[in-house]
Amino acid sequence: MASPLRVLIIGARSAGLLMAHVFKKIGISATVSEQDSSPTARPRDWNFGIYWAQARLEEILTPELNAALDTMQTDPAYKRHAGSVLPLINGKTGEPLKDLGAPYCLRLRRRPWLELLRGGLDVRFSKRLAHISTVEDGVIATFTDGTTESGNLLIGADGAHSIVRQYLFQESPQDALLLKSPILATVAITTLDRGAAAAIRKLNPTFHMTLDSNDPANWTFLIVATWHSEEDTGLQGDDAILDDLRSRAHDLTFPFKESLATIPRGTKMWHTRMDYWPTKPWDSRGGLVTLAGDAAHSMTFHRGQGLGNAIRDVAELQSRLGAMASNTPAELAKAVQAYETDLWPRGYDVAMANLENSIRLHDWDSVTKSLMLTEGLSRVGERMHGASGQAVFGTP
Ligand SMILES: Cc1cc2nc3c(=O)[nH]c(=O)nc-3n(C[C@H](O)[C@H](O)[C@H](O)COP(=O)(O)OP(=O)(O)OC[C@H]3O[C@@H](n4cnc5c(N)ncnc54)[C@H](O)[C@@H]3O)c2cc1C
Repeated sequence: MASPLRVLIIGARSAGLLMAHVFKKIGISATVSEQDSSPTARPRDWNFGIYWAQARLEEILTPELNAALDTMQTDPAYKRHAGSVLPLINGKTGEPLKDLGAPYCLRLRRRPWLELLRGGLDVRFSKRLAHISTVEDGVIATFTDGTTESGNLLIGADGAHSIVRQYLFQESPQDALLLKSPILATVAITTLDRGAAAAIRKLNPTFHMTLDSNDPANWTFLIVATWHSEEDTGLQGDDAILDDLRSRAHDLTFPFKESLATIPRGTKMWHTRMDYWPTKPWDSRGGLVTLAGDAAHSMTFHRGQGLGNAIRDVAELQSRLGAMASNTPAELAKAVQAYETDLWPRGYDVAMANLENSIRLHDWDSVTKSLMLTEGLSRVGERMHGASGQAVFGTP
């Protein structure tokens, strides 16, 4: 009798864990290997909106996990509803630019969401993938600790800097490289001064914030500031990044300027250039090695599409797996190849569309032509349902 199928998933975050749930549901063994030593090994965190992929997420998750999603929201009081919007505001004048429709959106706190997804899965930490090799009907993953795992399929859900992508493009390594956008980003998760916190929250009742009491000084905010610059700043150190952020806010109006001015010194800050990878078709070695999530399509985040597309990847693979005539290596490989034909053009389109959107958002002359204003938060070219929640200050 043939051995049961086994899938190796690299990366234990949204894309990898959702993939593992799909295999668990259909009775195929899947192991998730994660390089970090624990879920909290990296201090960086954020929250994300799901604007159009809610129905696809529901297809993937069990009823129990779906029911728990509302407890992962940034604002525990927020109830999904048809009228929720993400307000776009002119930071210099305070004038509303547009309310972006975000019906039934979800705004999830990333850490509790990942914790929820890890439940019941075979997740192994401190397992950094070092090398991949393929044999007939199978793939062997070698980890930096010297151990190996064999399977019938390896899925690289290992993020924007994917080592699996590097393996798939080893004949033309430049094709796997992340590209640098002309946009810099500074991100903080922080409390604010009581007055600024209350004023920010008042901007819109469906602006989702994490609240831990009725005192605005205890609420936490995800602050994201981005600007166009071809030059790197070379900024290092939390307070230097904070000082730079404040200096960029000098002509913003209330409460934006005040909110940045009241971020406490010593707050952990992240500063980076936004990068992207417009998907290129890869040689999956006959359906043995593939990619999902940011590894398959990294994109700038202004329209919040990265997680939505990771969810779509998983839902699409689930559909192809559902069409397998039997649980054999050949049928699995066929399902993977069919999945890739959906993913490749979509990944390229969304990465490029989101780059163009990000560039236009930072140029007053073209802001009204940006996808953010013309298409809102919908899937590019398709209006579906969709969300809000973080304070985004773009400075054209
Ligand atoms: C500030 C911010 C706001 C965002 N807002 C939104 C939003 O509102 N809506 C939205 O849809 N998207 C949003 N995104 C994008 C979204 O967060 C990403 O698209 C999504 O998290 C990608 O998940 P992933 O599982 O593909 O990759 P990742 O989360 O990057 O996970 C990859 C995992 O692989 C592991 N790994 C890497 N290399 C190895 C290796 N060699 N061996 C083993 N493990 C490895 C990593 O440690 C990591 O755990 C936002 C992103 C940011 C930064």
